[in-house]
Amino acid sequence: MKDDEPATAGMPQADVMARLRVVLVGPQHPGNIGAAARAMKVMGLSDLVLVAPERYPDAEATARASGADDVLAGARVVDTLEAAIGDCVLAIGTSARARRTSWPLADPRTAAERAVAAAARQPVALVFGRERSGLTNAELDRCQLHLQVPTNPEYASLNLAAAVQLVAYELRVAAGARVAAGEAPREPVTAADMEGLYGHWQAVLEASGFINHEHPHMLMRRLRRLFNRAAPDRIELNILRGALRSLDPRRRGDD
Ligand code: SAH
Repeated sequence: MKDDEPATAGMPQADVMARLRVVLVGPQHPGNIGAAARAMKVMGLSDLVLVAPERYPDAEATARASGADDVLAGARVVDTLEAAIGDCVLAIGTSARARRTSWPLADPRTAAERAVAAAARQPVALVFGRERSGLTNAELDRCQLHLQVPTNPEYASLNLAAAVQLVAYELRVAAGARVAAGEAPREPVTAADMEGLYGHWQAVLEASGFINHEHPHMLMRRLRRLFNRAAPDRIELNILRGALRSLDPRRRGDD
């Protein structure tokens, strides 16, 4: 898709995705850097910035990237958070802990919608913290919005790459990604078709002696309710009509 094309058929807009940046501040385990690159690529993100990683480059990062080596190879390494987000119109800091400050806090879905809206023109950063200690308050102060994944309060901290995956997914959905959900098309039936079915049921059930032809109403109403819930399509209706024909005692001469 070209940059100036609108999003179509559930595809996220490529230009917006290109302006969504993942910033990992002081990552300690190279495996998490690789896993984060993979998490990004799966969701169509490619802009990765590493702020003072403890061990990088590293074979473990490459191994965990598994096919997302291009995202890893394109990653920029910088010394400070300022250098990573300087050109961004919005920086969203992620944290497992609710801070005491009254900084605007959003869940991943809301934050992703904000990020995608802001990324229409200029880069937006999603900032992730260290495995051991997260982001410092000073680093969170540099972000205009805080994102918290609602988790089990007794065990709130996601693995770094898992947090990147979850946020990257929400970004992709917010940017318009959809699966082609749904069933195979079903040919509808009309009210007249359904009346034909009910009449057929009644005739066969009377002929078999299952219902008394003087009092069919309660049973027929129940059957109507059942078939209304089931909402059969044309093929199913034809099966039912065929089955009734084959079971009809008059046809078999059992009367
Ligand atoms: N002990 C650290 C946890 C860091 S987990 C702390 O208490 O902050 C590593 C990073 O993953 C975090 O800095 C954050 O960027 C992200 N993360 C983990 N769990 C998260 C959550 N529930 N909500 C938002 N981000 C989370």
